[in-house]
Amino acid sequence: MSNPWRTELVWAFWALILAITVGRIVGLGITTVVLLTVALVLARHIFHIRRLVVWLKGGSSSEFPKGSGIWEEVYYLIYQLRRRSKRRKKKLVKMLERYRTATAALPDATVVLGPREEIEWFNDEAGKMLGLRKSDIGQQIINLVRLPKFIHYLQQSDFSAAVSMPSPVAENVHLDIRVVPYGGNLRLLVAQDVTQLKFMERVRSDFVANVSHELRTPLTVLKGYVETLSDAGEIVPEHYARMFKRMQEQTNRMQNLINGLLSLTRLESSSPPALHKQVDVPSLLKSICEEAGVLGTEQPRIDLQLETNVDLLGIEQELRSAFSNLVINAVKYTPATGSINIRWYETGGGARLDVEDTGLGIAREHIPRLTERFYRVEVGDQRNKVGAGLGLAIVKHVLSRHDGELTITSTLGKGSCFSCWFPAKRLIRQTLPALKRLG
Ligand code: ADP
Repeated sequence: MSNPWRTELVWAFWALILAITVGRIVGLGITTVVLLTVALVLARHIFHIRRLVVWLKGGSSSEFPKGSGIWEEVYYLIYQLRRRSKRRKKKLVKMLERYRTATAALPDATVVLGPREEIEWFNDEAGKMLGLRKSDIGQQIINLVRLPKFIHYLQQSDFSAAVSMPSPVAENVHLDIRVVPYGGNLRLLVAQDVTQLKFMERVRSDFVANVSHELRTPLTVLKGYVETLSDAGEIVPEHYARMFKRMQEQTNRMQNLINGLLSLTRLESSSPPALHKQVDVPSLLKSICEEAGVLGTEQPRIDLQLETNVDLLGIEQELRSAFSNLVINAVKYTPATGSINIRWYETGGGARLDVEDTGLGIAREHIPRLTERFYRVEVGDQRNKVGAGLGLAIVKHVLSRHDGELTITSTLGKGSCFSCWFPAKRLIRQTLPALKRLG
């Protein structure tokens, strides 16, 4: 390709020669000759602009119009751009096809939702699990899957957790549904069939509940006899008395274990706490502190600070069990010379209960596992502190049922702080001010 600007100059030169020749023949003045030259150059450009528009509208990218000078270059560059974008488009279509084939083969149901929650695409599994048909494409999913739980989940903005619900097609099929926002305002809905998992979970929890229940009666009888024998005084030789004492400790431990397991099963199987029952938190905390204060003769000082009079909406029995577990733990793991500070206050759009102690503390590696069932940290001689390792699992369960969160901070040898946070929707203000400080 020769230099396009030189060709343009040659074109302008020939236009000038033509204008001068015509000017001589017709007898035109110099200004008219210049204007005629400009008009000729302009006519050439208008001709090519028109050709370019016709070519672009035609959509053909296989060949481009012939031209000369700068127009040859313009045609060629646009031709190249069009070819490149066509190639990219082909590649993208192929990628999309591959992606769709892969998603279609997934064992989970996948639905692509548009900005108005309309169905853009779904795989075969989604058809089976959610009862969708090809003709549903373009329709809003909430008009097809009408379960209130699902609609509520889709209309909120936090999709960090999945929602569990029965399949709209078959009641006995359980689905875990998760939404993943992507690409601006699109959303990917993934549903997983967890029927088998739920069944196994139920079998496990029924088994634990049944075994715990069946063990309760023989254990009560055993405990009664052991208690009678331990209290028999001088009738029982000292050698046996020590044995009975040990037996009594172990039967108590077994009873705590069974009670803990039954509490957990109850928490797992009952429906979430309603929002209409008000629990008087300040009174609850006062009574827990009073009870904890008489646990033993030598124990740390308990300090209760009630900085707010807000109450919780939930189940009193569950909250009592969670809060007293924390307070009893603090008493158990703090020496008599230490102190426990319990604080109920408003913070971060919710309310928080801190149970802080100056006790043994917990090494950092144990903290993430403390709320697991039966997880215990063995330190030194704990014979009189032996617990079932279920207390914190119960606390976590109760809090999550009340939309709360448990945070544990601790320094070995210095003390721990167990903090329960509740969101604003679980709070209700008392009508009478109850701000008091108990020593
Ligand atoms: P347990 O019945 O053994 O107390 P928990 O689930 O209540 O079971 O507690 C689990 C473990 O967490 C305990 O074994 C104990 O080591 C540790 N722990 C709980 N609370 C405290 C605390 N306030 N200070 C130190 N360690 C604690």
